[in-house]
Amino acid sequence: MSSERKSTKGTSEKKKQCVKETKVTNQFKKMMDEALEATQKVLEQRQKDLSEKGWDADKQKEFFKIFGVEGHSIITIDSEEEKKKAMDADPSSPFDPYIEKRNITAHEFMQEGVDRLLFIFKKISTTIDEGNKDPILIGNFFNKTDSDKGSASVTADQTSFLEPDRYAEILRINIFQNFVCKPLMGVNSQASTLCHELSHFYRSGENGRDGGMGTEDMPTKGGYSKLKNYPTFATELKESKSQYVFKNSYNIERYFEILL
Ligand SMILES: [Zn+2]
Repeated sequence: MSSERKSTKGTSEKKKQCVKETKVTNQFKKMMDEALEATQKVLEQRQKDLSEKGWDADKQKEFFKIFGVEGHSIITIDSEEEKKKAMDADPSSPFDPYIEKRNITAHEFMQEGVDRLLFIFKKISTTIDEGNKDPILIGNFFNKTDSDKGSASVTADQTSFLEPDRYAEILRINIFQNFVCKPLMGVNSQASTLCHELSHFYRSGENGRDGGMGTEDMPTKGGYSKLKNYPTFATELKESKSQYVFKNSYNIERYFEILL
C-alpha cells in the first residue's frame, strides 16, 4: 500500500493539477452523496474487520502492514521511548491524554476509533436546512470547490465539549477542489479523505468516548503546509514502529484506503 502511495501522492502529484471545474450546488450535493455512500461502506467494513468475528489472521496481518504496530500491542504513547521517537521526528508532537490513561491494545484503540468515526458519520449529511441562508453550506459541508486549498479540512475543536446529539447541527467540513478529482474509494480517495477529516475531531466526554480520534497532520510544527511531504512522514512513522501512527491523520487515513 505504501509503495503504491508514493507513486500517486509524492511530489509528482503536487505538480499534477486538479482541473475539474467548481461544483454548483446540485452537482456538489450529488458528488457528496456518492462520497458519503462510499465512506459508509469503508467505515462499516473496517468496523466488521475489527470486530471479534472479523479479526482473523489476515486482518491482523493487514493491520500490521498498514500501521507497523501489532494489534495486540498495548498503547503506550506516554512511554519515554515513544515520546522520544515522536519528539525526534516532530518536536511539537501532539499527545492524547485519554490513550495515556488506559491499558488498551492498538486493536481496541482502532476499534473504538472506528466506532466513533461511524457515530459522527451517521450524524452528518447533505440535507439542506431550510433556514440556512449560506449558499455554500450544503448540510454539514461547505462547498469550497472553487478553492485549490487542498481536498478537505475541518476545525478539529468543533467536538470539544459538544454533546453528541448536537453533531448534526454544529459540525462543518470544508470541501475543496482536489476532492473533486479523487476516486470514490481506495488510495487517496474521497472516502479515505473524509475518514481523515473525521479523525481530526477532538475526543471528548469521559475517557474520550465521544468525538473523533484527535489526530493531527504530522509533522505539526509550523502548521499545515502544502510543501510538507505528509505521506513520507507517515511512512517513516510506520517504519520506526512509532505508536504515533495512531495520532497522525495520514496514517489513520491509510486504514481506510480500501476498494469495496
Ligand atoms: Zn488533515
